[in-house]
Amino acid sequence: MAKKKQDYEIFEIKLVKKQRLSPSFMRLTFGADKVKYLQAYAPDQWVKLIFPKIAGEGVNVPDDMTPYEYYRSLPEEIRPDIRNYTIRHLRPKVNEVDIDFVLHGAEGPASAWAIEAEIGAKIFTIAQCEFPDHRAEDTAEIGSFVWSPPRGAQEILLMADETALPAAIGILEQLSALEKPPKVTAYFEVPHEEDCLPTPIWPGLNLQYLPRNVGTWAAGAQLIAAANSVAIPKLVENAEKQVNDEIPEEEIVWQRADAADDSKFYAWIAGETSAMRTIRLTLTKQRGLNKQLLNFMGYWRKAELH
Ligand SMILES: Cc1cc2nc3c(=O)[nH]c(=O)nc-3n(C[C@H](O)[C@H](O)[C@H](O)COP(=O)(O)OP(=O)(O)OC[C@H]3O[C@@H](n4cnc5c(N)ncnc54)[C@H](O)[C@@H]3O)c2cc1C
Repeated sequence: MAKKKQDYEIFEIKLVKKQRLSPSFMRLTFGADKVKYLQAYAPDQWVKLIFPKIAGEGVNVPDDMTPYEYYRSLPEEIRPDIRNYTIRHLRPKVNEVDIDFVLHGAEGPASAWAIEAEIGAKIFTIAQCEFPDHRAEDTAEIGSFVWSPPRGAQEILLMADETALPAAIGILEQLSALEKPPKVTAYFEVPHEEDCLPTPIWPGLNLQYLPRNVGTWAAGAQLIAAANSVAIPKLVENAEKQVNDEIPEEEIVWQRADAADDSKFYAWIAGETSAMRTIRLTLTKQRGLNKQLLNFMGYWRKAELH
């Protein structure tokens, strides 16, 4: 069978640096020759990180499968854990990529690895790459990012919890570099006050960090409160309100905006899945925002309490 056309490459990456940014964030820098081919088309570009169950095990993807299909085909007992993480910084000239991990404890393989891994430790990544000898006919659609604001956007709403903070700060950095940065309202929920990481600022930016330890807030609760109170720009209110199209509990929340190029408003909202479900309904059904202008991404799922 012919090799599938795709730009996703699987390769090994080595931990070259660890830097504690705050109580909840650890920046891990990875190196590998192939990092120079990695692509970050947008500040929320993500890669898949693969944490092998058997340390040191290699990867041999059959020609007729994509790396992801191959992993899905493995029996569960030996199938490695795969998690999505955002490219925080990419330095192709020195073959390095930074990923900011939320340290949420040792119960998750990714968080546990970030806590324990020593310099030199290796994992695999599946990532969008472009190679110099790449032929146009081999090019699949570029992907693994959502941020794609309309050219006419004048007002932007960003909502993120800690898992989406690396992407959200990257978005602020990109906007701040524009000749005329747009008006941005941003709510970033983090576990601790010390997790309020620095961001660029400009006169049109209204950023509120919402640390959960100032009070006894549950994860997502302050973002939900913000969705109830945020001022909705008059120009985007949808007079008819939205029909009720709740996303069922078992489905992931992943809704991309479909905004026209001349849309004035755009929103990027990511965090814990059940909070995303509530915020989506609040902003569309109750607050009357047109869902075509909104991106909602469930970045992780809170364990059910029994
Ligand atoms: C596109 C995308 C980009 C992402 N980028 C980043 C990123 O840059 N940095 C980052 O840290 N995360 C990021 N995430 C989220 C990350 O993939 C999840 O948090 C993932 O579940 C962590 O895997 P784990 O193995 O540590 O825990 P899991 O095995 O998935 O979960 C184990 C337990 O931990 C809980 N849990 C998982 N994540 C958290 C958390 N953050 N806080 C508290 N409890 C948690 C689960 O509810 C479960 O009970 C991203 C997710 C997506 C979809």
